[in-house]
Amino acid sequence: YGDASQRVDYVFKVVLIGDSAVGKSQILARFARNEFSLDSKATIGVEFQTRTLVIQHKSVKAQIWDTAGQERYRAVTSAYYRGAVGAMLVYDITKRQTFDHIPRWLEELRGHADKNIVIILIGNKTDLEDQRAVPTEDAKEFSQKEGLFFLETSALDATNVETAFLTVLTEIFNIVS
Ligand code: GDP
Ligand code: MG
Repeated sequence: YGDASQRVDYVFKVVLIGDSAVGKSQILARFARNEFSLDSKATIGVEFQTRTLVIQHKSVKAQIWDTAGQERYRAVTSAYYRGAVGAMLVYDITKRQTFDHIPRWLEELRGHADKNIVIILIGNKTDLEDQRAVPTEDAKEFSQKEGLFFLETSALDATNVETAFLTVLTEIFNIVS
């Protein structure tokens, strides 16, 4: 309906999860508005942002949900996961603890979300390579074992952010179309 520039063929809800301060909101800002801020405040207010892109000649509206400071264990409500067809599970490559918490987030996700949800594991802040605390191999091995996609990103310099979203959205597209 409407003219071609406004027509939307698909709307995909994708949720961002992971510990506080790993860069979820900045990854979203980079994807949705091509922005980045070094002193981002803890997320308040806005529940999701959207960006419409074209995948295989279809218009796909990505509706990306960001936690509003609910990163404490089990504080993310089931409403957050409802209807999600994709999830980005984010840790900070310079903070080992944020990677060690990933199995917990995965368990929570699998407990709440649709069983066919497409999940990508994301190691963010690759621009801080000199402070790396999580070897790429560890995350790769974990993601293979759990059947997740995996990429390392930097919201700061934009490395792989677009690719990460496209990986998830294209996989969802291939499942539903
Ligand atoms: P959230 O709590 O997971 O939403 O994390 P934020 O997006 O608010 O980011 C937390 C802090 O990490 C902020 O100071 C960001 O500027 C910073 N940050 C986020 N992504 C990156 C990144 O890729 N590289 C660097 N160096 N800092 C980042
Ligand atoms: Mg945030």
